[in-house]
Amino acid sequence: MQQLSHNFYIDVILPLPLERNFSYAVTQAEFEFIQPGIRVAVPFGKSKVYTALVLKCHRNTPTAYEVKSIHSILDETAVVHSVQLRHWLWISEYYMCTLGEVLSAALPNALLLQSESVISVHPHAKFDECNLSDDQYLIIEALEQEPRLRVDAVQAILGKKQIFQVLKPLIEANIITTNQELVHKYKPKLLRSVSLDVKFKGEKGLEELLNQLYRSKKLKEIILAYFSLSKDSELVSVSDLKKMSNASSAQIKSLIDKFIFEEHFIEVDRLKLDGFAIEKSITLSPEQTEALANIKTVFEHKEACLLHGVTSSGKTEIYVKMIEEVLKEGQQALFLVPEIALTSQLVLRLKHYFGDQIDVYHSRFSPNERVEIWNRVLKNSENSRVVIGARSSLFLPFSNLGLLIVDEEHEPSYKQFDPAPRYHARDAAIVLAKLHGAKTILGSATPSIESYFNAKKHNKYGYVSLTKRYNDVVLPDIELVDLKDKYKRKRMKGHFSDRLISEIEQSLSESQQIILFQNRRGYAPILSCNTCGHTPECPNCDVSLTYHQHANQLRCHYCSYGTVVKNECGACNSVDLDTKGFGTEQIQEETLALFPDAKVARMDLDTTRGKYSYDRIIQKFERKEIDILVGTQMLTKGLDFRDVKLVGVLNADHLINFPDFRAHERCYQLLQQVSGRAGRTKTRGKVIIQSYNPDHNILQQVSSNQYVKMFEEQTYQRRIYKYPPYFRLIKITLKHRDYNRVNEGATWLATALSQVFGPYVLGPEFPPVSRIRNLYHKNILVKIPEDQSLQKTKDVIHRVKNSFLSTKLFRPVRVVINVDNY
Ligand code: ADP
Ligand code: ZN
Ligand code: ZN
Repeated sequence: MQQLSHNFYIDVILPLPLERNFSYAVTQAEFEFIQPGIRVAVPFGKSKVYTALVLKCHRNTPTAYEVKSIHSILDETAVVHSVQLRHWLWISEYYMCTLGEVLSAALPNALLLQSESVISVHPHAKFDECNLSDDQYLIIEALEQEPRLRVDAVQAILGKKQIFQVLKPLIEANIITTNQELVHKYKPKLLRSVSLDVKFKGEKGLEELLNQLYRSKKLKEIILAYFSLSKDSELVSVSDLKKMSNASSAQIKSLIDKFIFEEHFIEVDRLKLDGFAIEKSITLSPEQTEALANIKTVFEHKEACLLHGVTSSGKTEIYVKMIEEVLKEGQQALFLVPEIALTSQLVLRLKHYFGDQIDVYHSRFSPNERVEIWNRVLKNSENSRVVIGARSSLFLPFSNLGLLIVDEEHEPSYKQFDPAPRYHARDAAIVLAKLHGAKTILGSATPSIESYFNAKKHNKYGYVSLTKRYNDVVLPDIELVDLKDKYKRKRMKGHFSDRLISEIEQSLSESQQIILFQNRRGYAPILSCNTCGHTPECPNCDVSLTYHQHANQLRCHYCSYGTVVKNECGACNSVDLDTKGFGTEQIQEETLALFPDAKVARMDLDTTRGKYSYDRIIQKFERKEIDILVGTQMLTKGLDFRDVKLVGVLNADHLINFPDFRAHERCYQLLQQVSGRAGRTKTRGKVIIQSYNPDHNILQQVSSNQYVKMFEEQTYQRRIYKYPPYFRLIKITLKHRDYNRVNEGATWLATALSQVFGPYVLGPEFPPVSRIRNLYHKNILVKIPEDQSLQKTKDVIHRVKNSFLSTKLFRPVRVVINVDNY
């Protein structure tokens, strides 16, 4: 133990949900070297080691606890910028979570090595053993015996505690990887290719080579095939080469063995297409030009601008122009999309303009890939000047952001639900922009009530609109079909009305594509017994199991529990079982039966689990290898398909009847967005919406495109019933295995809060699904009027929560706080 008398300390964020940051002692030399944003390995608890992030350096001896020394310094320069740290502080304060939780969400896992991390050899590791240190060599050797090792096991093998510094270079050189299971799932596709060895380059080399091969006509043929294939690049894929020259694997191998070909495995960047000339010029339409000019005017005196442009009005092209200007200034741009499914289409489109300056970031990348992108952004690399990503890309180490775009800003998936930090990416983006002195564009065809309110009523954002589709294509014709009437008059086949069927036939006959929307996956949400009425429920959750026919399974959509379907009722053994309700799987089946000649595919959570599975479906649809695409809301978000003529919504009712104050707003957005996929380029599209309530106000507003009317009606209701945008909401959820404890705890907490906030405390109330993964849930909602201090409200909630958790009875109850609850 070194002497700690010289009083040099650092405060660090540990990747743990701790209420405060901890101080550690450092030597004077370390103190002079360390700056905020550098990682250090520190001991914590009895015997654990964590990677922590330095928040500040100081010389005030902590008195509350015994200070430990750090183990080692892991970085030479900061991996997190100070502007980022300020953003993280804001997130932790605003969303009432700890900095440790923000750190865990923000930093790629592989940068957060800890005792429990698991390491393994990278599947594509390339290294020379001679370059390894003794310790590193021991680690690799150990991994040959035992492919997955915990970091604390490595500590034991090396007989030392301070091993993060040994591991770090191995991770950075892609020799080892952490948390291997992810890497396996999303292994990048590798293409085996060959190049000609350098000594045979040029005319003379070639002559020499052909001489050398004089005995084998076949090998010469392969070489000639290589030349005709290798026009622009030296690398030729082995499969192309085999096809062209009719060569066998053994013949190719012999050329490799003779050192004539050099073998390569290159990662196939599925987004790279041939002939991708950077085409710098798009000509904006007069409307787009005006909108662009208006946005620039707005930015002269406002930091954010809402771009309200109908579907297919060409918002993306306006973003492109704005990004171009930012790049000219040498700044970075961040383009947020709500759904990973959207990134690839967008990347393809943007590559046309920005070539290799684009990077993509989202949760389906492997740990090492994430570290690579992190480091490129950190270095402000040319290759990541424009980052397209899901909400977590807000955490990347930008140093010089000029523009943030939040596309489809109304999307609820921008709000992180679980775990903490429960941040809203749109709102956090605006704060991040402010910290960088950058601007934010919020784009949508159906803005959230909050954003439209902020623009139009509060004057907080600027407002620019595009009311026409690009190329003057007319917005689709939306027809409401009354299901009550159709069933009564027997005009239904399965879940398809005669109107929908005839429109599908029409589109198919014109070789136009069709999208069918049903916002529920699986075959049917309920399987029930006709004799006794029993429905199988999840053993862990208070919800019935969804029937998945294809897998012959009953599955829980809350906890992923699954069980094989039995042919008889679990309660009375009757075999008379029936399904109620319907999901995408059933619609796909009915579609196949009704239109046997059509090519039908499905896009929902069940068909898109792999890293590239979205892309595959989307690309097949784009290439017209699919006629009818059945899907959930995944289909609604911003996808740009050229030949979709018809969109069918099988049942709009569960969207209307959802028990949530945002249900009608969401219903409007979802139906307008899914309708917006129809008729984007040439002919006018057609939309059929089937419902038992076709006269419902919200459906009438959808069918006549009356956003403003929807807004006025919804805000009227929200004002009366005290909801956003007039009141802020903080939701407090209690969770515990024991029903009574949750019940009593919720009453205790609600009573304590009511003493301060009176009638603005709602509940406690059990949510519709009150038990998930064996935990009972109960909610309390705190409403905050505009003139009440948000900070003081949070302080009270914090205090009440702490005294709640300090009672013995309630300490084990989990209390989850969700600010601006969605
Ligand atoms: P939005 O994002 O508003 O829904 P998009 O940006 O996807 O609309 O544009 C709709 C379609 O119109 C796209 O296929 C796009 O390529 C095309 N488009 C829009 N603006 C232009 C333009 N200025 N020049 C050429 N094509 C355009
Ligand atoms: Zn039964
Ligand atoms: Zn369950």
